[in-house]
Amino acid sequence: MSLSSDIKVNESVDEKLKVFEDISLNAKQIQDNVLKEILTLNANTEYLRSFLNGISDKELFKKKVPLVTYEDVKPYIERVADGESCDLLSGKPITGFLQSSGTSGEKGKLFPLDNKFVENLMFMIQTCSFLRRKHVGGTVHGKQLAFHFTKPESTTPSGLPYSSLSTTFLTSDYFKNRPPNNVFSLTSPDQVIFCPDNIQSMYCHLLCGLVQRDEVVSVTATFASVLVRAIIFLENNWKELCSNIRSGQLSNWIKDPICRRSVSLILGGPNLELADLIEQECNQTSWKGIITRIWPNTKYIISIVTGQMAHYVPTLDFYSNKLPLISPFYASSETMFGVNVNPLCKPLDVSYTFMPNVSYFEFLLVDEVNKVEIVDLVDVKLGFYYEPLVTNYAGLYRYRMGDILQVTGFYNNTPQFKFVQRRSVALSVHLETTTEEQILKAMTNARNVLESSDLMLIEFTCVADTSSDPGHYVFYWELKSKTKTADPELDNELLVECCNVVEKSLDNVYWNYRSKDGRIGALEIRVVKQGTFDSIMDIYISRGATITQYKTPICMKSDEALTVLERSVLVRVFSNTSEPSLHS
Ligand code: AMP
Repeated sequence: MSLSSDIKVNESVDEKLKVFEDISLNAKQIQDNVLKEILTLNANTEYLRSFLNGISDKELFKKKVPLVTYEDVKPYIERVADGESCDLLSGKPITGFLQSSGTSGEKGKLFPLDNKFVENLMFMIQTCSFLRRKHVGGTVHGKQLAFHFTKPESTTPSGLPYSSLSTTFLTSDYFKNRPPNNVFSLTSPDQVIFCPDNIQSMYCHLLCGLVQRDEVVSVTATFASVLVRAIIFLENNWKELCSNIRSGQLSNWIKDPICRRSVSLILGGPNLELADLIEQECNQTSWKGIITRIWPNTKYIISIVTGQMAHYVPTLDFYSNKLPLISPFYASSETMFGVNVNPLCKPLDVSYTFMPNVSYFEFLLVDEVNKVEIVDLVDVKLGFYYEPLVTNYAGLYRYRMGDILQVTGFYNNTPQFKFVQRRSVALSVHLETTTEEQILKAMTNARNVLESSDLMLIEFTCVADTSSDPGHYVFYWELKSKTKTADPELDNELLVECCNVVEKSLDNVYWNYRSKDGRIGALEIRVVKQGTFDSIMDIYISRGATITQYKTPICMKSDEALTVLERSVLVRVFSNTSEPSLHS
């Protein structure tokens, strides 16, 4: 989604960023106005009337309207989806729904969509491109190799359309009617993005990117996982891609006629020289720096690399020779949240400055003693952890996001947050709780063990296996060789060391049960065949997720996915450490 910019080359970026500057200076006033506007529009909806009796008052809102999760609002959303009037939830028309990826929880959820939502989305994307232009400068002439995918829109029983956030953007007039000399034009024609078959689409994105290799100045996908997937796809298909370039003929299995026509035009005639050049690069034993070798003018990569995406950073660094990674925004199907005002900072330092004009935000303090404290956007405290509550124009009120953020600073008068983790992701076999953040740290430590070997950790997920007593943690790992495409050679000793390091990264509570009273068994890593995690993604895509928004679940709950993982296990290894954690 991070691809469009309508900055004309001579226009001042600072002028374009003035709206963002103003809202960040006046965050308090703007938040109050947003809530007032939402309540004035929606106080008489069936939902809000039951708490507010039609009164649109901030204090009453805070006192009476409950905090909700998806399960609480689902019956209302389903009634609108089934054809009841949208004034159940919203005073303004609900134009459709957004389907969340459904990978952090189990099922894709539907969220009401209105025109204001699309306006906010455009505001965020434009602001990101202005910020990029301001900070990166000088690299605006060229094309983006963008891995964007869509899924055909579906309709609810009442005929309202629904699709993912990314598809909503890519099918919007804003994207479709972007000016031809848009600062970042794409190497792929729109027909590739709209091809309903994601594999054909991926192949064509790469082919168009290869043919226009000299023009590519940035490589992008909404989430970092998609970029890693694209490079592995290239690794598995470069011979065929080169043969298409050599002959000037697109492979016959690209059947989508519209996609085929547009890609054939870009492919042009046979190009032996280019085919040889790409073949030479891809034929090298190591794929280190392949992005910069094939697309030598690439200045940076644009992709979300925070939260669970942080675990793809070392792989992207390997493939790109550490090109700058720009993590542009934090957004969801519920609302847009914030933008990265310092796009060239290191992935670990990324914080998102909230946009006070898009929704009304409150923050629930994440507190170990379960004290309930809710504050407004401008009242959050530096260093504290919060879960955002969203009240938007389309019909969500005090909706608990389930994300945990930490306040890292202020931009003008608007707080900036670091994305920490999803609240719901945790492993537990006894009375301990191992959070997403701890799991990601443990994976980083294990990656350091792999660093000096030929192996890269490409994907992982985990479960708390309680089928035997005592229960234990199981990590499924997909590993890749840095030097060849075939399944890598596995060194048992190295993998046991990885198990030990992962387990030692866990906290004292875990170790109390693990070593002192044996309530937790030794941690296990099961290495799965290459391509297994693509099959897992296919399961989620068949249930409605899109490649663009898909995030591999950190803790796997789907039985179907677990069956696929189990079927693909190559090697099982257990930790043999009985030492307590690194922290004790
Ligand atoms: P979806 O509604 O399916 O697009 O998923 C939205 C969720 O993706 C958010 O609630 C976050 O958990 C995650 N997410 C979105 N943007 C970011 C980001 N910049 N960093 C980390 N996680 C993100």
